[in-house]
Formats: sequence, C-alpha cells, structure tokens
Amino acid sequence: MSKKQNPLRFNVGQIIHETPGFTKSISFEFPFYELGDDFTAKDLKGTVTFSRTQKGILLEASLSAVAATHCSRCLDATLTQTLSDFTELYAFDHRTETESGLIVPESGYIDITDLAREYLLLDTPTTPLCKPDCAGLCPICGENLNHGTCNCETRTIDPRMAKLKDLLDDE
Ligand SMILES: [Zn+2]
Ligand SMILES: [Zn+2]
Repeated sequence: MSKKQNPLRFNVGQIIHETPGFTKSISFEFPFYELGDDFTAKDLKGTVTFSRTQKGILLEASLSAVAATHCSRCLDATLTQTLSDFTELYAFDHRTETESGLIVPESGYIDITDLAREYLLLDTPTTPLCKPDCAGLCPICGENLNHGTCNCETRTIDPRMAKLKDLLDDE
C-alpha cells in the first residue's frame, strides 16, 4: 500500500448489507495524532459505533484527546483535555441526508478525520489555563509570574485614597 494508512477511516462496506439494527463498535487509541494543520492531538482515544438504519449508517463517536495549546493567561505551551461526543447520519442517498449532508461513500469507507477535528476543536476551551491559579504575566515587564517575581511596582494607589492623602497632607 503506497498511500499512508489512515486509522480514522473505517470500512463500512459490510455493514451496508446488514439488516437495520445491526451495530458494530470499534475502539482506538493513538499516542499522537495530527488531525489537521491546526490541531495535533495527543492521547487520542475513542470508540465509534456504526449502526445500520433504514436511512443509512448512523455514526456515534465518543472521543477524548489532549490538545497542544497555549495558556490564555501566561501564553506558555500547555495541554488541554478535550472530550467530544457526536452523532451523525451517513445517508444512503440524498433523499434521506441530514443537514450535515453526509452520504455513505461509494468506496464503503467512512473517514471521520475531519469530523473528529471539527468536534474536538469546538469542544476545546477557548481560554485554556496552564493551571487553575496561573499567575499570568506582569502587565509592565511581561515577566511570567509563574516562574518568578519581577521588580515592577504593581501596587497602585486608589485615586480616592490619594485624594484623602492630599487633604491630610494639607493640614
Ligand atoms: Zn498560564
Ligand atoms: Zn514586571
């Protein structure tokens, strides 16, 4: 086989010929999986269940992955756990297709790579943190306050207090 094997591509050719109600589950686990240019998953684990229905093949997927991302507060590289469950129908023809417009490919192979990427991206937190109490960056010098302290004077005087101080100084 010259083409790179895609483990998220499943042969459903046999399921098509089963009677409605037939189901088949497949579990997989990959330590590292590139789902696209914008998404590299570590520890991609999942189970997909294909069910033969009257209208087509129903895919039920349950995925978990660790996404390599950046902390939204200190910008350090960090890993975020992502879980995604989704259900899609691959219709036998256009009369029964759903909004997703998925059709059982003539090849008999269903490739869930794009779906997995989309759903996992949707379920990845938009503001991940490297740790719940990430100290973030110093707003003045940009020092990562998780790694050490800086010498910036970050204590600010409340303007109302400043006014009071002025009054007291005048007396
Ligand atoms: Zn952080
Ligand atoms: Zn600083």
